[in-house]
Amino acid sequence: MRKHILLISAVMMMAFSLKAVDFQEHFKDKTMRFDYYHTGNATEEHFAFDGIVSDGLWAGSRNALVDELRLGKYFFEIQEPKSGKILYSRGYASIYGEWETTPDAKENWGVYHESIRFPWPNQEVDLVIYKRDNSDNSFEPIWEYHINPQHYRVNPADLSPMYDVSTIVENGDPEKKVDIVVLSEGYTFDDMEKFRKDARRFANTLLEAEPFASRKEDFNIRAVEVPSPNSGLNHPHQDIYKRSALSVGYGAFDSERYALGFNNKKIRNAASAVPYEYTVILMNDSIYGGGGIYNLYITAAADNAFNEYLFVHEFGHHFAALADEYYTSAVSYDINKDVIEPWELNVTAHPDPETIKWKELVTPNTPIPTPWEKEKYDKHSIKTQKKRRELRKAKAPEEKLVKLFNEKRKWDNELLSNMEYSGHVGAFEGARYMAEGMYRSEANCLMFTRYHKFCAACRRAINMVIDQYTE
Ligand SMILES: [Zn+2]
Repeated sequence: MRKHILLISAVMMMAFSLKAVDFQEHFKDKTMRFDYYHTGNATEEHFAFDGIVSDGLWAGSRNALVDELRLGKYFFEIQEPKSGKILYSRGYASIYGEWETTPDAKENWGVYHESIRFPWPNQEVDLVIYKRDNSDNSFEPIWEYHINPQHYRVNPADLSPMYDVSTIVENGDPEKKVDIVVLSEGYTFDDMEKFRKDARRFANTLLEAEPFASRKEDFNIRAVEVPSPNSGLNHPHQDIYKRSALSVGYGAFDSERYALGFNNKKIRNAASAVPYEYTVILMNDSIYGGGGIYNLYITAAADNAFNEYLFVHEFGHHFAALADEYYTSAVSYDINKDVIEPWELNVTAHPDPETIKWKELVTPNTPIPTPWEKEKYDKHSIKTQKKRRELRKAKAPEEKLVKLFNEKRKWDNELLSNMEYSGHVGAFEGARYMAEGMYRSEANCLMFTRYHKFCAACRRAINMVIDQYTE
């Protein structure tokens, strides 16, 4: 309960965000990319410094330097050494953070390369990385590192342009806008016209979905053309083997449709071609799949029948750390079953009308928890899951899966749009991989089914993040 109140006050603080840090006094107009290795297994975790490079112009806000949303599994602060004053902070998530919950981490050690980015400090600073404590979701310090900008492992040179760049959406100064970089993956030189078209399609799709649509003018979107030696991506589960420019591929953590790239440096160096805060890796592939990690990147197949839904869903994870609101699909990692209040802004374990996370959004006269046709929905979902498993096992053609997904989408929309509390904001049980004890704000949402709209809690979270980059 205490955490719950803290979260509400963090949300309120956002509205009165104090201009506590003077940008000019502490930072240059330049981005510092701090590279490090993150290693460990299911029981221990370590960090090691790799190097520091310049990531070009600072594209973030000069006012919202301290992150009051405090989302993500990890969090970092840049502190003034003597006073301990926080000069910059951001929440984030990482591939390591997912990997450590997989069965592999129980048997083996893993090492992942990661980067954090912040404005280039004028003087020596301390970096502190925090991680969520599993017992109460508070952030505990896990690594500290003293940064001396004069150190021999710090290289302030900007990367010279290596790739062609095109502007997809331009609305003004990077420091006042949300800047998205779109990277091509699995596109050859000859595929680049298609890539530019796909990048425009991604931009249009995203900026048509609310609340992005109402705030279109807050976005810049730029595309970087990274050529691959051949078209398409690697699919180990389907015996399709490819080597592409950024080493992104399907089958991450042995999950057939989960696409990630483990070569962080390659991806970061490509993104470095333009000022950016958020990264989209468009995959030149027709097989349904993708992924989205908070403040890291999204991957999304450009040519699948569900690509438009996929772009926006994965972007929700990446941009506003939205939790999945679905709960019947099988996922490859073990989820902590103790019900503590999750930190994500679109799910709650406390359906109390007096204190619920999205209290201000609740539709008057809506019971909390809110009744819905859960039994009927679950029965149908389990049936669909079974069919899906059978099709995959038989290595059925993609069209058969698309057909099944389309039928499910139609059935879901029909049921979820025609219930007593459809369209109401309340607390609907079933969310974040848990059929019980976890709640979402509306009957349907883009983070729940293949629906085309975000629920009220998701929309509010997205607006808060847009504010952080446009103040
Ligand atoms: Zn939602």
